[in-house]
Amino acid sequence: MWLHFGGKNIIIDPGPGSLIRMFERGLEPRDLNVVVLSHRHLDHVADVASVVESATDANKNKLDLLLAPYDALDGEDPVVLKYTKKGFKRIEIISMKNQYQLEEITIRPLIPHIHQGATVYSLEFRYKDKIFIYVPCGKFYEDMLYAYPQNPDLMVFNTTFVKPNLNYYHLSAEEVEKIIDKVRPKKVVLTHFSINMLKANPKKVAEGIKERTKVEVMAAHDGMKVEF
Ligand SMILES: [Zn+2]
Ligand SMILES: [Zn+2]
Repeated sequence: MWLHFGGKNIIIDPGPGSLIRMFERGLEPRDLNVVVLSHRHLDHVADVASVVESATDANKNKLDLLLAPYDALDGEDPVVLKYTKKGFKRIEIISMKNQYQLEEITIRPLIPHIHQGATVYSLEFRYKDKIFIYVPCGKFYEDMLYAYPQNPDLMVFNTTFVKPNLNYYHLSAEEVEKIIDKVRPKKVVLTHFSINMLKANPKKVAEGIKERTKVEVMAAHDGMKVEF
């Protein structure tokens, strides 16, 4: 996901195919300033090395910031090469106690997620009075209803299933709807769909939530652009 926010270009979760997608959409990797990895799973980070290589002209023009949880960067099986880390002026580990400033943008974790084999947090991006919230993969739990500021401008949810699925550590549309109803964001994008969700038609699922909550909810598709 390419986020243009507070005058910066931020790539969040450069999963497989990210670099190719940028070129297809006319986005220039050299315009990037920040890379955010929500967690170490490959569907969220597989392209980080190629994106950074391209964005920095092989580490010649360093990016401002890499933000990721500890286990994505270090620990037993990190997913960012030592070489790739050299493409950044600054690297920060996401932890609940901290927030991260990049000029006028403040990024902070809001709540830890429960996700198998990976540290994950919901992330808030603030610039002046604009608030963007990214809710990556994780199992639903009650505290999530109270973790977010009211009426953010945009929330993006990794909404893997239609119905709650206790065997997997992912959010379902039903659970996301509860959060939306409580938090009342101005706009919502659902993404990160399973086959099960695709069969149910994400567009229809989003329309259902919109009808019931009266919140503008959209299903993501490749190349989708959202203004907020
Ligand atoms: Zn994951
Ligand atoms: Zn995932």
